[in-house]
Amino acid sequence: MILILSPDITPADERFKTLMSYVDSLPNIKTRVHEVQGSQQHLTELYLIGETAGLSIHDMENLPGVDNVVRISRDYRVLGRHVNDTRPSSFEYNGVHFGQDNLNIFAGLCAVDNAKHVEEMMVALKDNGQVCTRMGAYKPRTNPYAFQGHGKSCLPYVFELAGKYDIKVIAMEITHDIHIKEIKDALKKTGNPTGVMLQIGTRNTQNFELLKAAGKQKEFPVLLKRGFGITLEESINAAEYLASEGNDKVIFALRGMKTNMGDPHRNLVDFAHVPVVKRLTRMPVCIDPSHSVGSRLTTPDGIMDVSHVTAQGIVAGANMVLVDFHPDPKTAMVDGPQALLMSELPYFLEDAAIAREAYEKRVKLVNKYKLAKQ
Ligand code: PEP
Ligand code: MN
Repeated sequence: MILILSPDITPADERFKTLMSYVDSLPNIKTRVHEVQGSQQHLTELYLIGETAGLSIHDMENLPGVDNVVRISRDYRVLGRHVNDTRPSSFEYNGVHFGQDNLNIFAGLCAVDNAKHVEEMMVALKDNGQVCTRMGAYKPRTNPYAFQGHGKSCLPYVFELAGKYDIKVIAMEITHDIHIKEIKDALKKTGNPTGVMLQIGTRNTQNFELLKAAGKQKEFPVLLKRGFGITLEESINAAEYLASEGNDKVIFALRGMKTNMGDPHRNLVDFAHVPVVKRLTRMPVCIDPSHSVGSRLTTPDGIMDVSHVTAQGIVAGANMVLVDFHPDPKTAMVDGPQALLMSELPYFLEDAAIAREAYEKRVKLVNKYKLAKQ
């Protein structure tokens, strides 16, 4: 059970202490305090864990200082969407809104190779009104002899160029907790010209120590990729690890599943799960068409599979798209064959906007029919 306190109450408040002493007197119940800093207000939530079935929502709502009570119906205590749950399904980071109600495109390099390509990417983004990108510095590779990413050495020029071209958020994968500090240090040294969303890749979805480290810090939001060979429930529990440590600025990414059944795509595209994740949780949902499809193959209608699946995810309500671009894919050090070209960026964005408009029309339509039924 979650007690959501009145916005002005913090743990230092007398009313909070009175409430805590009452709650502590309840048998077989432990409490956990969770503080949420929104753009407008600071919220304190009290999680009651244990034998809460006998507690009445009405009684708890009438306790002084309590605004709202949510009975937890699932394992995902913080990130889950529970009955009568009024908690937000969005957050702000570095001036950008991330929510289940909007769409952000993160087009960028799978792996940073050199400053020239980073700059060409950033120029194209700025020319097309984009403020987010993806830039891989730490690459987890299947083959130990493959390029592992430039690591911290490329961070200064990536961040400076981002600042130069008004990029507000860079999705950047981390594979070790030390990378969080390296990113923080490089941002500080370059004068914080941009923001970073820490990406946890599909090979690390259940790396619990990495999840705890990314969850303990609250500076950077986290993009958690679904594990490619585990259940959806296991992956959402992995996201809950981040939130249970204190960081609930989490976006959940679908990137396809490994099936090894001679699939035409690199992974089996799982974007039908976009609405499922939005029903189960309050997390914005990202799709990664590049790592799902893994090629630039085109269908007879002239549209690439990557664009088809992007549209499918957006029409189903996706809130973020992580997509590989490269100025010169044949020289790309990672995933060149699936990268789109700079010249394809305006097309990709326009196609995504068409799909988003279709989604918004679909929401309007269902509301219109709901009204007619009442
Ligand atoms: C990536 O986004 O660069 C990546 C490695 O993705 P995934 O973890 O989904 O394979
Ligand atoms: Mn890649």
